[in-house]
Amino acid sequence: MAEVINGKLVGEEVVAKVKEATASLLEDGGAQPGLAVVIVGEDPASQVYVNSKSRKAKECGFHSEQHTLPAETSEADLLGLVEKLNADPAIHGILVQLPLPAQIDSAKVIQAIAAEKDVDGFNFTNVGKIGVGELDSAFVPCTPAGCMILVERVHGKDLSGLTAVVIGRSNIVGKPMANLLLAANCTVTIAHSRTRDLATLARTADILVAAVGRPEIVKGDWVKPGATVIDVGINRVVSAEGEKARLVGDVAFAEASENAGAITPVPGGVGPMTIAMLMANTLASAYRASGKPSPQ
Ligand code: NDP
Repeated sequence: MAEVINGKLVGEEVVAKVKEATASLLEDGGAQPGLAVVIVGEDPASQVYVNSKSRKAKECGFHSEQHTLPAETSEADLLGLVEKLNADPAIHGILVQLPLPAQIDSAKVIQAIAAEKDVDGFNFTNVGKIGVGELDSAFVPCTPAGCMILVERVHGKDLSGLTAVVIGRSNIVGKPMANLLLAANCTVTIAHSRTRDLATLARTADILVAAVGRPEIVKGDWVKPGATVIDVGINRVVSAEGEKARLVGDVAFAEASENAGAITPVPGGVGPMTIAMLMANTLASAYRASGKPSPQ
């Protein structure tokens, strides 16, 4: 049976280090890290995410601001707020919660965030840095950054000689994940909805990352014996009428556990790492703004 990788515990360790480093930055006369989270509209899932990010920021000792704008906010008004936050020295990280309402061009808003405050790692400067392997000065998107820490817990930092398959090619998860694995010397294949014979390809992977958004698409016999399986998917499913929705990943956990060497659960795997890495990115931004090297 596979070792279950406890993302909740690892996430707590990351947050504990962020707290310590925040305190020592302040002692050294550096800036208090500041995170601004912006949400437009009242999507309940987005509100839950935003509230937990703001709460975690406070727990880390950050200055934390939440800007809740009405659903009918114009693109110009949102861009105006981003500009204000870009210029605010108390703010080191800006996060605009996606999705945005239809009248707002999300890409335009994301690109308007100053690269040095883009703690989500979505704007072109950070995407480009990750593409060329300039990881030290980039903000790496939080979910793949968190996945890498979980992979490192199993394999260490150097993944030379290992084969990785990433299922999913989104800009938020799949592509940056593949770049990070490549930077760690893995041999990487990216699969997507047009990939033929996904099961056979998946079985070649020493490290299999599923970032698809399809409940339990990865079956037990897709997993090479001993492989490390990182399940990014968060899917709400209702098995029977009237039953409460439960969360499942993109991997059929029980089956896959029989073959895998190590596997992340859903919930309690990648999810808690995402928020922890947002804190780590905001801290790194405050260190850079204070002219100090980022803590590792
Ligand atoms: P996207 O919908 O943006 O991307 C999904 C990817 O999966 C696409 O590249 C798509 O291929 C591919 N895909 C879809 N169907 C299949 C299929 N049948 N076979 C192979 N590939 C397929 O999703 P995200 O990357 O944003 O998110 C993926 C999952 O991760 C979701 O469940 C999401 O909720 C979760 N997530 C979890 C986070 C966390 O903190 N744990 C954070 C972010 C996301 P194509 O490009 O060809 O369409």
